Amino acid sequence: MRIGVYPGSFDPATYGHLDIIIRSAKLVDHLIVGVLNNVQKSPLFTTEERVKILQELTYDLDNVEVQSFKGLLVDFVKMQNASVIIRGFRAISDYEYEIQLAQTNYSLDSNIETMFLVTKNEYSFLSSSIVKEVARYGGNTSKMVPPLVVRYLNEKNIELNLEENIKINTLGGE
Ligand code: ADP
Repeated sequence: MRIGVYPGSFDPATYGHLDIIIRSAKLVDHLIVGVLNNVQKSPLFTTEERVKILQELTYDLDNVEVQSFKGLLVDFVKMQNASVIIRGFRAISDYEYEIQLAQTNYSLDSNIETMFLVTKNEYSFLSSSIVKEVARYGGNTSKMVPPLVVRYLNEKNIELNLEENIKINTLGGE
């Protein structure tokens, strides 16, 4: 049985990520979407939220499972008995980072291969950061992320605005 891991931050998941998930799930027997529990990156969504979003987006894909992980990717891959890492390739700007990552992982464990899927044309300039930027200023993200993620982004905005208002009110009251 060939098990693949598709790792990433998924902060939040976009149509581009979903496209890679659907396509790579056809190439392996079992696909584990690995959500990086990243401390340095200070994500907008918590790890639990990012996992939940992906679980909801992939509930109808029988051979796809979502998990979070910490530490070295190759260790997580080995722990899952997986042999393939899947990454998405958008534009030439991904090249340097992705090659570096793939070479590092290969040098850490040569039994694990990295496989790249090239993104659909319409998603090649789509990133989680762009989505967050657009959502933060109230722009329409419905072409970039599934409706469920649009809702999560709106909720997060309300949450952030509330926090901001509480801060302003607290300062004003002093
Ligand atoms: P990371 O922090 O690991 O780059 P991301 O969530 O940004 O995490 O991306 C995870 C993977 O999905 C990466 O391989 C990235 O190149 C790929 N990816 C991101 N956006 C898209 C997209 N629009 N289309 C296809 N692949 C994408």
